[in-house]
Amino acid sequence: MSDETDVPQGDAAPPPYSFRTRAIHVGNEIDPLTGAVVPPIHLASTYRQPGAGEWGEFDYSRSGNPTRTRLQQTLASLESGTGALAFASGMAAIHCVTMLLGKGDHIIAGCDLYGGAYRLLHKICNRSGIEVTLVDMADPAAVEAAITPATRLIWAETIGNPRLSIPDLRAISAIARRHGIWTGVDNTFGTPALIRPLEHGIDIVMHSATKYLGGHSDCLGGTLAVADESLFDSLYYIQNATGAVLDPMSCFLVSRGLKTLQLRVREQSATALEIARWLQQHPRVRTVLYPGLPSHPQHELAKQTLQGGFGAMVTFELDASIEETARVCESTKLFHLAVSLGAVESLIEQPATMSHASYDAEDRARFGITDGLIRLSVGLESFEDLRNDLQQAIG
Ligand SMILES: *Cc1c(COP(=O)(O)O)cnc(C)c1O
Repeated sequence: MSDETDVPQGDAAPPPYSFRTRAIHVGNEIDPLTGAVVPPIHLASTYRQPGAGEWGEFDYSRSGNPTRTRLQQTLASLESGTGALAFASGMAAIHCVTMLLGKGDHIIAGCDLYGGAYRLLHKICNRSGIEVTLVDMADPAAVEAAITPATRLIWAETIGNPRLSIPDLRAISAIARRHGIWTGVDNTFGTPALIRPLEHGIDIVMHSATKYLGGHSDCLGGTLAVADESLFDSLYYIQNATGAVLDPMSCFLVSRGLKTLQLRVREQSATALEIARWLQQHPRVRTVLYPGLPSHPQHELAKQTLQGGFGAMVTFELDASIEETARVCESTKLFHLAVSLGAVESLIEQPATMSHASYDAEDRARFGITDGLIRLSVGLESFEDLRNDLQQAIG
């Protein structure tokens, strides 16, 4: 649970500021024109150039915008990368990664996968002749066994969805390097406050900024960050050519959200752990899937790799039918019945009928997305209020 970068450095060392300091200062340097401590939002779509055929730093806002650049600087710093890109949504960010591939290429993805990523890979990427195999990312041997000569990308989630499985990123990146394959990780549930996949040898880290990075359910966004500059150039080329960039207002909202990311995620994770423990002893609850519980299959790995908490998503299974489970999800008062996650207000949903409805029915059954499953996104309300709300809903 330590954050090694929080250790104060001597005056002589250049400031490797801690995560929470960088979240506030990197990309938010004082505006030289006015001294404003919050940089202005640049809405311009185009920029006057010094001469014909001579280009200034910015020329057109799809290619670059000062507000987006500032956000990307913050993101690159928080992810321990050298470059980052901000997209119109998380899906646009994942799509950009898949566009590194072409006809005949093969992707290995985790079977505990966000519903929208499942749909993108199976119903859109297949149209360009890209094949997908889903495997249990918590089993590195299964990942290696799924590699074919056509495999170009391994795609995992730092904390899977909805079963909250935890892959061993070091093992997966080592396998991928041996085979010359890119690795990409969706760190939406993990957040850079808890884990930074680039530090574990992963090539590309992705976020739905709609969730914890923004943190207030008021904007959509997606991000990619990398450590390798030529990979950054390839991704930037695709983003600029296809155009799914994040608008300046949303860039501002994500930048503002990042300033409190670590505080929110640590606090929400602490409440989530209390809720998971409480659910575990509830007679109507069959199982609780939470990386912070010793009963979680990758609890030891989670303890080693997640810093400062185990995340604020809690999945549990009721001993109940699909209808009874739906009724519980409909009976909470504080937990809003809604997809999405990662914001200050708590949400509840039923994966089988909501977040994972875009899975084929057989894949839902195969990957443990059962009728009695409920997924919680634990917000910043008090534990007692959230517990009482669940108590009255579960009965
Ligand atoms: C929400 C989400 C996405 C997609 O992001 P959007 O911003 O909704 O496009 C991808 N992965 C995970 C884990 C998510 O929760």
